[in-house]
Amino acid sequence: ETIRVDLSEREYDVLVGTGTLGRIGSFLEKADRIAVIADERVAGIHGEKLERALAGAGRRKTAWLNVPAGEACKTLEWFGRTQQFLLEAGCTRQSLVIAFGGGACGDLAGFAAACYMRGIDFIQCPTTILAHDSSVGGKTGINLPGGKNMTGAFHQPAAVLYDTDLLKTLPAEEIRSGMAEAVKHQLISPSGNAGEMLSELNYGDMDEQTLLQYIVRGIQVKAEIVSQDEREGSVRKYLNFGHTYGHAVEAAAGYGGLTHGESVMIGMLYALILSERLAGADRSVTDALQHFAERNGYPLKAAADFPFSELFAYMKKDKKASFGELQFVLLPETGRPEIGKAEEEDCREADEELRKRLG
Ligand code: NAD
Ligand code: ZN
Repeated sequence: ETIRVDLSEREYDVLVGTGTLGRIGSFLEKADRIAVIADERVAGIHGEKLERALAGAGRRKTAWLNVPAGEACKTLEWFGRTQQFLLEAGCTRQSLVIAFGGGACGDLAGFAAACYMRGIDFIQCPTTILAHDSSVGGKTGINLPGGKNMTGAFHQPAAVLYDTDLLKTLPAEEIRSGMAEAVKHQLISPSGNAGEMLSELNYGDMDEQTLLQYIVRGIQVKAEIVSQDEREGSVRKYLNFGHTYGHAVEAAAGYGGLTHGESVMIGMLYALILSERLAGADRSVTDALQHFAERNGYPLKAAADFPFSELFAYMKKDKKASFGELQFVLLPETGRPEIGKAEEEDCREADEELRKRLG
């Protein structure tokens, strides 16, 4: 399956399916040097597959840097090491970076490519379900000691090669994490099929075809939205559905206590409750999402570990908050997201209601 992302100044393909790494050759022709930046855990499990694909394309001598697994690589220190690595590997403006890992590694490697010599090409080879979201759209960056994703750049990949064979080794919490974004994409898209997904899907017996279908659908939604609004001036904001409260929970849990998507699942329930109060949304959608999340093992009660005052302080710091007002993506109906403003009192009441419903 190939999905085209069509942006004003350039377009690129997202290749999804089994064995797509084997098709990497056609994207390497113009590169004078290739530098892989890989999540070290992923390199340990799947590195040989990428090496074989590169060798098959006649690219045996590839520079390779392993970075710490997951979020730990998104630091200024590791960003610095990537720049030094690219320089020592002899990379030029015509060289190519390959990101091999989940969203964290993709964010670091993409930002490394965005900055080195003021920007060189890169390819995303995502290895998590969540990365169906993070690898498309061109947001790259790292964390600062005081804030997540606070330094970064928009830098679109030259291509995304998404080999779904690599997803088989994902632990359960990473499946939950990635699938939460897949649910989000179904909920906010006018052509989504959230109802069926929420009533029928169980991760435990999800076959490859079903997973592929949700990934492809998620990428299509993301690609459509990014094509309309690359720099998040308008509709791209809808992708933040569930993320204001979700980010707060993720931060309160110290990044790592809960995965990103597990936090976003809690945040989507919160946003739906807010939508009931402020936008006339029907409770049946919230209930369906809650049942889905409980059935699939999301740690929903985790939100109750943190007092509202702490979560609210994080929400106010969110970089999407502007002029001191809290903005939320509301969902009056599935497939019809809208931006709404909420006062502190609304936020507090929705928080209380969420705690009550989660028991
Ligand atoms: P991740 O990259 O942090 O990886 C999670 C864990 O899974 C790591 O321990 C990693 O080593 C392991 N892993 C990865 N692939 C594996 C595989 N195939 N088999 C076994 N283990 C594997 O997690 P993620 O959820 O993919 O990414 C989260 C990051 O993505 C966050 O930093 C978030 O900010 C970022 N993100 C970026 C965007 C964007 O638009 N740029 C969007 C959403 C999220
Ligand atoms: Zn997200």
